[in-house]
Amino acid sequence: DPRIPAIQSRIRVVPDFPKPGIMFQDITTLLLDPKAFKDTIDLFIERYQGKNISVVAGIEARGFVFGPPIALAIGAKFVPLRKPGKLPGEIISEDYTLEYGKDCLQMHVGAVKPMERALVVDDLIATGGTLCAAMNLIERAGAEVVECVCVIELPDLKGRERLKGKPLFVLLEAH
Ligand code: 5GP
Repeated sequence: DPRIPAIQSRIRVVPDFPKPGIMFQDITTLLLDPKAFKDTIDLFIERYQGKNISVVAGIEARGFVFGPPIALAIGAKFVPLRKPGKLPGEIISEDYTLEYGKDCLQMHVGAVKPMERALVVDDLIATGGTLCAAMNLIERAGAEVVECVCVIELPDLKGRERLKGKPLFVLLEAH
């Protein structure tokens, strides 16, 4: 798709952020270009329109940028998956391990109903740990994860293999 190279050109790569040796893929520069940002969202909408998806779950924080415009366009609800201590209602939690240390995602009980069809959206998949925890929350609510959706994949880290056999759709790869 001719829109993809233009989107790729808007991702800024920042060496040694947030720590030495990391090549950080910065999507904030994509958001500064309205055409490239819209093309990003449109590519997702074109894929999921008419697929009977009722839930778009976005992972804090950058999944909150890409998830809601997709949800609005396809007529789905948006469900935020948040870091601990942010959601005021009754929650379920999934702990997961990072390269250094642990983290946790939480979801409101009742936000997702049994048998619903869901997408899980984030900006980037690295090791896949974050998306795996997000999928567990959706599945514990009795819903089906149809696909995981990211703008960028770091394929060398093989995160795709941690997604419980579910498909992953990405626009770009970075190495
Ligand atoms: P994983 O759990 O797949 O190892 O890491 C993915 C999570 O870390 C995502 O929530 C993503 O936003 C964040 N992340 C890791 N590396 C990068 C990066 O280079 N750029 C951006 N934008 N996010 C990253």
